[in-house]
Amino acid sequence: MEQARALLAQVFGFTDFRPGQEEIVGAVAGGEDVLAILPTGGGKSLCYQLPALMGPGVTLVISPLIALMRDQVRALQAVGVAAGALTSGNLEDETNAVWDGLRDGSLKLLYMAPERLASGGMDRALREAGIARIAVDEAHCVSQWGHDFRPDYLRIGELRRALDVPLAAFTATADLETREEIVARLFGGAEPRQFLGGFDRPNIHLAFGAKDQPRRQILDFAEARKGQSGIVYCGTRAKTEGLAQALGQAGHSACAYHGGMEADARREVETRFTREDGLIVCATVAFGMGVDKPDIRWVAHADLPKSIEGYYQEIGRAGRDGAPAETLTLYGPDDIRLRRTQIDEGLAPSERKDADHGRLNALLGLAEALGCRRVQLLGYFGEEAAPCGNCDLCDRPPETFDGTESVRMALSAILRTDERFGTGHLIDILTGSVTDKVRQHGHDSLPTFGVGRAQDKRTWQAIFRQMMGADLVRPDAERYGALRMTHAARPILRGEASIDLRRDALRRRERPAAKTL
Ligand code: ADP
Ligand code: ZN
Repeated sequence: MEQARALLAQVFGFTDFRPGQEEIVGAVAGGEDVLAILPTGGGKSLCYQLPALMGPGVTLVISPLIALMRDQVRALQAVGVAAGALTSGNLEDETNAVWDGLRDGSLKLLYMAPERLASGGMDRALREAGIARIAVDEAHCVSQWGHDFRPDYLRIGELRRALDVPLAAFTATADLETREEIVARLFGGAEPRQFLGGFDRPNIHLAFGAKDQPRRQILDFAEARKGQSGIVYCGTRAKTEGLAQALGQAGHSACAYHGGMEADARREVETRFTREDGLIVCATVAFGMGVDKPDIRWVAHADLPKSIEGYYQEIGRAGRDGAPAETLTLYGPDDIRLRRTQIDEGLAPSERKDADHGRLNALLGLAEALGCRRVQLLGYFGEEAAPCGNCDLCDRPPETFDGTESVRMALSAILRTDERFGTGHLIDILTGSVTDKVRQHGHDSLPTFGVGRAQDKRTWQAIFRQMMGADLVRPDAERYGALRMTHAARPILRGEASIDLRRDALRRRERPAAKTL
């Protein structure tokens, strides 16, 4: 699966699989017959596109939606994948190019509308083309009882027999009857391997914590689980080493792992981790893919992961044996700033950056959730759930309050200083602190100066963090540290929308200033 990971990053630009994708890709690439049920938006197309690139031959994709097919082909071609479509809307040139690609063996993905299967000689043409597998999108279209029935889908079963290749069927429709019909009609009754959603890992306890004294927080978490195997994911290589040392001094058995280490040293850590009980590995995300250890009892994030997909993958390494496992994800305004900057400064095209911001927002929304974390996490992946009773917010429901007034003060401080300053300075203005910088810019004469005196600086920090979590403000891509308002903030500023904030985040015990890791 190393190859799959590499292609995921290089071709599709994703760092992590979504729930289910990795297993499905493995089965499809391994030549198995597969029926996979993934929710809409769950990422079905990747489950056949990626295997198509992993071996020889052409993957034939049957899809009922011509516009969608053309979009996918265009997107694949844009990243250098040899894909083509045979549809009624084709220009002659396109069709010729597809047949050329089939003949010289360069084509990897051939998209076809089901009607095409009816045209004369198609079976023979496909047999000669070296089809490696068939992938069927919207497989429920084969069901006569559903409202999407496509009579031409009934031909797919014959084609599969004629070509004698594995078939992978995908749909979002999960009811038993539809599944049985798909198995009977597409697979001729042969039992495909079925993947049926079920992304919940109910034995994993979910918890987030605002970074306060991050090193202390991780040490405390590990101390309470002494002797158990765990992973601490860190944002930087240096931090993996610093933290491993600190854990070692606290009497734990701990080591570091990151991509900058020699291959031998890395392998040694992997082996030790699998064999020993109670080893803690402080690692970058490079750790985990090759690690097959069912009894990892806890996973902590010393820094916020990149995306909600990354979060799910990393916490998912805990408790594979089904026994209770625990997680803790720490985050603070610096993480949010760092992740945003990484996206903005990356080389990805702008649509991809927007999508990356969206995936980060989803994670921040989870971090600042007001209700059950599992409901929110699974909801993002298209699954419904009831409050789980196994997350920090189910354990202790957060108190919320109407934070509209405070948020409006903060937004107006940002606007009145032309979106050119960062949290610290803005808080000085709100709380009426006359610093050199405040005086130098004449900000002590702003109407917002001191309007937020009723709340202390710490409270304001929490309010700003929650504002970032709700994507009301973002760091300026050009001016380091400065905050800019997003469109989402305007209705609040105009008094057309209100916002609830969590109180618990605001009322934590005062502690000495945070020491950085
Ligand atoms: P489906 O066909 O299941 O409704 P798609 O295949 O169209 O879903 O994927 C939905 C969206 O999810 C697409 O924008 C796709 O780029 C994105 N996506 C798919 N896999 C991943 C992944 N591993 N990480 C991040 N985004 C992904
Ligand atoms: Zn819960």
